[in-house]
Amino acid sequence: MRILLFALMWLGIPTSVWAEVELTRLTWAGIKLVHEDSTVFIDAVGRDLWGGNPPGGDLIPLEASTGRRYALVTHVHNDHFDVDSLRVVLGERGYVICHEDDATYVASRGLRVIPAKYWTPIRRGGFLFTAVPAVDGMGDTQVSWVITVDELRLFHGGDTLWHGGLDLVGAQFGPFDLAFLPVNGARVLRDPMPETPASLTPVQAIDAALMLRAETLIPIHYGLDNPPYYREVADAIPSLLDGARRRGVSVNVLDPGDSLRR
Ligand SMILES: [Zn+2]
Repeated sequence: MRILLFALMWLGIPTSVWAEVELTRLTWAGIKLVHEDSTVFIDAVGRDLWGGNPPGGDLIPLEASTGRRYALVTHVHNDHFDVDSLRVVLGERGYVICHEDDATYVASRGLRVIPAKYWTPIRRGGFLFTAVPAVDGMGDTQVSWVITVDELRLFHGGDTLWHGGLDLVGAQFGPFDLAFLPVNGARVLRDPMPETPASLTPVQAIDAALMLRAETLIPIHYGLDNPPYYREVADAIPSLLDGARRRGVSVNVLDPGDSLRR
């Protein structure tokens, strides 16, 4: 996109139509995008679910100053769908965008909802949002989001399990500029505790980034180990960086609150 901007400037063509997108990592799996008069939250949680010790440091509050506001959710587990904070930040005019199977539930929580079908783009506020299949570790409905704005193409993987459909999404929508992928390989208490993770491990996230044809992987959904209820892989980020170096995948680790512009 930057090369395109330089080319347009060199030709004397106004570049203001390609306004920047500001991306901010929020707490846990949350991401915030701001573009022109729209703010888009994805899996944004502003409420302390972690007893005063949120993963990655400070709890990042959900704030927006634009007229248009949207909140995409991959699924309605409380670490991805924060009803109280969304009610405040979306106000009277904002929308939650979720898979159609979750729409009745989201509406019942007092939120305005736009239901999404798989593979069917929704155009709002200069963005295009497309729900694509994901697999939830608890067996609930979960989607991943393909988000395009101007020339920028993003993927948000919630806390999906590994699945072969990632290849299809990469073929259909790739290459992606950025892929936000869970990396903590979480195991959630059952009796007996499973050895199979309920979200992507670092190794699987690298394979996912390769299948999605992502230029850069940004890890999300890590930094919480709470035995015996919730166990994540040891050293999620060092093993991600190690594996990514070995396999030629670019990783950008953002702490909650860190922003970048594209
Ligand atoms: Zn989760």
